[in-house]
Amino acid sequence: MALEKYKSKRQFTKTPEPRAKVLKKSFGRFVVHEHHARNLHWDFRLEMESGIGSQEVVLKSWAVPKGPPLKFGEKRLAVAVEDHPVDYINFHGKIPEGEYGAGTVKIWDKGKFELLNRTTKEIEIILHGNKLRGRYVLVKTGFSKNSWLMMRLKEK
Ligand code: MN
Repeated sequence: MALEKYKSKRQFTKTPEPRAKVLKKSFGRFVVHEHHARNLHWDFRLEMESGIGSQEVVLKSWAVPKGPPLKFGEKRLAVAVEDHPVDYINFHGKIPEGEYGAGTVKIWDKGKFELLNRTTKEIEIILHGNKLRGRYVLVKTGFSKNSWLMMRLKEK
């Protein structure tokens, strides 16, 4: 199942994070978590099927070291991380010391998105959040297995 990796990294008796549960339907939501872990980063998460053609709805997740881009044409590195359960969309709080991702997690932005296009290498969306609004694209790079770039695009 899509959340094996998520499960294997966490001890649910110790972390307040949601348990691994896949859902069948997406409501087209996104969230950005501000994660004060060892290194501050932002986690960008889209509620969608784990893979193209999959029935398992999860939060596809990327860690964005410098935060999502706000300006047109600005490119930000986004490192794909393990799928997270949809319940994570409302999660905020403190992951205890010694646990995976230890540190404070805040919701930096959330809202709905429209999916314009999805391939294994590219995801194009329109975000309707409070801070993030407009057309965005995530593009897989050739640099390393999990590295993507997140960019804000001009409206068509
Ligand atoms: Mn994180």
